[in-house]
Amino acid sequence: MKKVVKFGGSSLASAEQFKKVGNIIRAEESRRYVVPSAPGKRFSADTKVTDMLYQCYETAVSEKDFKAQLDAIQARYQEIIDGLGLPLSLDAEFDVICENFKKKTGEDYAASRGEYLNGIIMATYLGYDFIDATDVIFFDEEGNFDAEKTNDILSKRLENTERAVIPGFYGSMPDGTIKTFSRGGSDLTGSIVAKAAQVDVYENWTDVSGFLIADPRIIQNPKPIEAITYKELRELSYMGATVLHEDAIFPIREEGIPIHIKNTNAPEDAGTLIVEATCRHPKYTITGIAGKQGFASITIEKAMMNSEIGFCRKVLQVFEDNGISIEHMPSGIDTMTVLIHQTEFEEKEQKVLAGIHQAVNPDSIELESDLALIAIVGRGMRSKRGTSGRIFSALAHAHVNVKMIDQGSSELNIVVGVRNHDFENAIQALYDIFVNTRI
Ligand code: ASP
Repeated sequence: MKKVVKFGGSSLASAEQFKKVGNIIRAEESRRYVVPSAPGKRFSADTKVTDMLYQCYETAVSEKDFKAQLDAIQARYQEIIDGLGLPLSLDAEFDVICENFKKKTGEDYAASRGEYLNGIIMATYLGYDFIDATDVIFFDEEGNFDAEKTNDILSKRLENTERAVIPGFYGSMPDGTIKTFSRGGSDLTGSIVAKAAQVDVYENWTDVSGFLIADPRIIQNPKPIEAITYKELRELSYMGATVLHEDAIFPIREEGIPIHIKNTNAPEDAGTLIVEATCRHPKYTITGIAGKQGFASITIEKAMMNSEIGFCRKVLQVFEDNGISIEHMPSGIDTMTVLIHQTEFEEKEQKVLAGIHQAVNPDSIELESDLALIAIVGRGMRSKRGTSGRIFSALAHAHVNVKMIDQGSSELNIVVGVRNHDFENAIQALYDIFVNTRI
């Protein structure tokens, strides 16, 4: 058994947290490759080291004195080193960083130092090899991740390395400069290493015990999701459920390597297993519920529209020309509705309406704003009769008016549109019917 273990910022925010991480890694021989984030928040009002680095670099670029800010960053690391009692000094590293900030080496370089230094501490603490991500993670000329080159070089390097720490979040450009992934990108590094090392499991350690069936800000103590497929996760992430970087599943998806989300602060909790497919029956008919507010709908009505060839294309062209992406498009015989993000639409509203008039000469156009979309997601829905019946009776009992319904063709999700002010009530009703009453 071989595992990659990635630890998020809050798991590495202090010496105390490092000790928990050390215990987790040492508890299993299989935890051979470690991907750390930069130190995160120690308490809710704290600042992540990555943000401190961005701010410090901004000061350097504006040619102001950044010494105090850099010292504060070094102090964060020193606190960890002292707390762990390590014979390690980062003075020389900070001299180099200071020089490079003066030379304005780049924002990505600055941010990457967060994981780089944490990686050095982690490798010293564990007695593992340190592999700088610049030597094994590559981007192409356009700044896109170069999966092939990375996998070639990284897999060879890991073949000869029994145990190593590889810092997350960054890699190098063809000219040797440093580039980072988007925020939260250490999740991606973990996935890339998991593929290159062909591990059995990619463990992603964070500060929650996996994904929850619903948002804990809306539902009190929601139940955790034990197993979820990549596809279900995509649906839920799109609707706002965040634990893992959205792109983290791509490198390992075709490799069939599962991701196990675990809680550093409660390692005995089962966590969530993310898999390609599973014959494990979900405990409930649904796997999760997620939603987003702030949508608007445009309903276009025209008699005989369904026999007018190219009608939809002409309407959609108007949205494309205005750079507005479409979320859903339910239709009737003489009507079609387009759902879009309200903020995206607001600025271009009149242009879009005029465009639709010119394109298809409708009988009427109706606008509705302040809508929310809720996705009810679950691989279990396919084989169960009456899921939509239960959804709508639950919403009716909760006095929620359903404005729109869309069942994905994969039968993996049902999306309902409700008014923003019914959003929380609707999620509570859905959670109650599927989880609390367990049908
Ligand atoms: N440290 C980076 C961030 O705060 C990357 C990561 O933690 O994954 O976004």
